[in-house]
Amino acid sequence: MKKVAVIGAGIAGITTAYTLLKRGHEVTVIDSRRYPAMATSYANGGQLSASNAETWNTPKNILNGIRWMFKPDAPLLFNPYPEVQKYKWMMGFLLATLKNEHKKNTLETIDLAKEARDIYFKIADEEGIEFELLKKGILRFYDSNKEFKEDINKKSWLEQDGMEWDVLSTDEVRQLEPAFENNANYEKIVGGIYTKSDASGDIHKFCTNLEKVLTEKYSAKFQLGTSIESINKEKDQIVLSGRDGDEIYIANFDRVIVCAGVGTQEIAKSLGDSMNVYPVKGYSITIDLKDEMSRKCAPTVSLIDQPVKIVASRLGDRFRVAGTAELAGINTDIRQNRIRPLLQWVERYFPNVSTETYTPWAGLRPMTPNMMPLTHQSKVKGIYYHTGHGHLGWTLSAATAKLVVDKLESDL
Ligand SMILES: Cc1cc2nc3c(=O)[nH]c(=O)nc-3n(C[C@H](O)[C@H](O)[C@H](O)COP(=O)(O)OP(=O)(O)OC[C@H]3O[C@@H](n4cnc5c(N)ncnc54)[C@H](O)[C@@H]3O)c2cc1C
Repeated sequence: MKKVAVIGAGIAGITTAYTLLKRGHEVTVIDSRRYPAMATSYANGGQLSASNAETWNTPKNILNGIRWMFKPDAPLLFNPYPEVQKYKWMMGFLLATLKNEHKKNTLETIDLAKEARDIYFKIADEEGIEFELLKKGILRFYDSNKEFKEDINKKSWLEQDGMEWDVLSTDEVRQLEPAFENNANYEKIVGGIYTKSDASGDIHKFCTNLEKVLTEKYSAKFQLGTSIESINKEKDQIVLSGRDGDEIYIANFDRVIVCAGVGTQEIAKSLGDSMNVYPVKGYSITIDLKDEMSRKCAPTVSLIDQPVKIVASRLGDRFRVAGTAELAGINTDIRQNRIRPLLQWVERYFPNVSTETYTPWAGLRPMTPNMMPLTHQSKVKGIYYHTGHGHLGWTLSAATAKLVVDKLESDL
């Protein structure tokens, strides 16, 4: 049994803490925020999606990125101001694309996503966690024949890996999700691809409800409101120092796992580790389905509008719509010209859902250039990283937590 500190109480940190506690370690979770899951794990797209596990390193996405640079409401926005980290990350993305590892990395991600899905379902059952889990699959739909055909062509290699890739006609899309009725734009949908084992749920509810279980049932300690400012190794102990408001915080641990999302890069730098994790910004809106008509007309199957890269999930009496990727550094300002396309999307496909009351949000995906998560040990022995999940942190964290804890234990 080791005394382990987990830095970060987002989905990566919470799943890591759970895995450690189940294996009998003593765990302290430290976060600079006053509550768990207040950063990127707050209001994401909600999808637990093996079907969206494709990495983005394709020549097509590079060409799209260049084309979209000049379109203010495009799915990808690039802010050209000079920033070394951004250009380093973009070079890394280009190199990963040239290495042609897209298929290999996608298949590896699908395996992790399937494993994580099962772990989440097991946690929900065993610990009685409520997080608006809906096991109704994920439906991609298309209003472009060209994109639809391109994605149908992926069926042969994706299915090698046991991935479900059920191709649906326009009528089958409507049968699966009747909320598409009452909608003039529905006729423009040319078809869909359905992954029935995928699911959706509220990441923030999952983290906050699991925090209670970790504290009450497994005796985890949560040191919230505490920002870690330095990590030092002294003999075989790791000393964390930081601030809890005006108080100085200092504590010793046997091992540390850094799950600090976009804050991990700074910590890695202070330890002399090279890391390339960039904050890729995204936006969401959460619509309160206040009236009966809105509740009836909002979809329950989780959706991906593939051509415009928008995802949507029903979370009880709320409807979450998320999308866009913006390279703009550590900046969570909410820009109306990124929120408006999300609202317009709801009005286009679900016109009877009232958008009168909604909450806009922006978050930063901790993303590596090849989209593969990191679960390795630092140069400083005893310190591990668990981050870099990018657009799939909710989908993958339960499985990658297992990987990082396995590594920690194999070094004991
Ligand atoms: C718009 C959008 C939609 C998305 N949709 C999906 C989706 O549908 N499905 C999916 O799988 N993924 C999705 N994602 C990605 C997913 O939300 C993220 O990958 C995931 O939330 C990252 O979790 P994390 O724990 O690594 O980071 P975070 O949730 O950001 O947690 C890191 C924590 O570390 C703390 N911290 C940082 N530095 C320090 C420090 N020095 N000291 C103490 N604490 C520190 C922070 O306060 C924070 O709480 C989406 C992301 C966005 C932005």
